[in-house]
Amino acid sequence: MESILCLIFAEEGKSIGRASLEAVYLAKSVQNNVTGASLALGVVGSDLGSSIAQLKGCGASRIYKVEGEDFEEPIYATDAAAAESICRAAEASIVIATGNSRVNRVLPGVAQRLGGRIDTHVCDVDWEDSTLRVHRWYYRQRMRAVMSRVHRPWFISSDPGSFAAWSGEVDSNEPEIIDLGKPQTSQRTRVEGFQKPVSGGQTIRPEAELLLVAGAGWTKTQPDGQIKVKDAEKLILGFLEKTNASLGGSKSMVDLSSEGQEVLSFMTHLNQIGQTGSSPRHPKGLATCCHGEEPHVVGWRFINERRVINSDPNCGWVQGKADVVYIQDAFAVMAKVNELLAR
Ligand SMILES: Cc1cc2nc3c(=O)[nH]c(=O)nc-3n(C[C@H](O)[C@H](O)[C@H](O)COP(=O)(O)OP(=O)(O)OC[C@H]3O[C@@H](n4cnc5c(N)ncnc54)[C@H](O)[C@@H]3O)c2cc1C
Repeated sequence: MESILCLIFAEEGKSIGRASLEAVYLAKSVQNNVTGASLALGVVGSDLGSSIAQLKGCGASRIYKVEGEDFEEPIYATDAAAAESICRAAEASIVIATGNSRVNRVLPGVAQRLGGRIDTHVCDVDWEDSTLRVHRWYYRQRMRAVMSRVHRPWFISSDPGSFAAWSGEVDSNEPEIIDLGKPQTSQRTRVEGFQKPVSGGQTIRPEAELLLVAGAGWTKTQPDGQIKVKDAEKLILGFLEKTNASLGGSKSMVDLSSEGQEVLSFMTHLNQIGQTGSSPRHPKGLATCCHGEEPHVVGWRFINERRVINSDPNCGWVQGKADVVYIQDAFAVMAKVNELLAR
């Protein structure tokens, strides 16, 4: 019989974010489809009162908690010790967590300590005769693998945004709350604060509703003969600030700096989407001044609703890839959009 554990690190030590609710949803689906499986939650944080109250009704029979100041910040030593102690106490055969940066940092190490195996970047699951199978992409989303494991414990971390967030269906059975106290750690690191990169602000926001893609067109000579990079910066940053959107860039855009051209100061290679970049998951996408095949075909793969602003009606990669195309000057459109958002 499978003993399923859903592992959660409370955000800022206290609250339950969307990523954690996705893990709960996935763990519950697995429990419902694997015959005789039990479900427990493991929660780590500094002040878990409201988090545990929020999770109580999810149908888990037990909630294991590791609580204390040491578990507010994501530090490998403390997080790994907490996760290890929960997995051991729960005697989990399957451990499920959403692979945000905190989980990705510790979960493989915890799997190693417990003699387990781990599959990361899981984007879907299914069942064959009640046997759990996980899906993940390989080779930049070109090949999708479906696999199962007999080895236990089996650690599974899913890609954020791949599953629905658990909500609502409250189970009237109260889970047993088990406080595991403070596990032994060898913590030497202390978090003193956060610093933004000098290039200006955090523009990559995996949980944003919207992905704004900026192509190299923003830096090209415009019909009036001018290059308007400073205007482009203002428009893009203004839009990001007002919408909390995440920023993606085409390869041509992020490569410009190495070609000595004037560039958007906040755009780095980390922003690149496409075949040699990332394929982020967001409900909506807006591509501006972008023509390339790779951003539209691969980079946008997991964007549900796609819109484009391009001044060229013959932009071939946009056709058939976007839901809506505005044939317009992006400088004018984005200025108007920002003006409307400011109201
Ligand atoms: C092996 C390989 C891997 C690659 N991997 C990637 C990858 O991962 N990601 C990636 O992005 N590319 C990748 N590329 C490059 C890709 O093929 C394209 O060259 C690149 O994406 C083009 O970038 P772009 O669309 O921003 O620029 P451009 O092709 O220069 O397009 C600029 C667009 O801006 C429009 N424009 C200009 N001014 C305005 C305005 N005022 N208003 C509205 N529209 C305007 C123009 O009409 C044009 O369509 C790869 C290429 C190769 C060979």
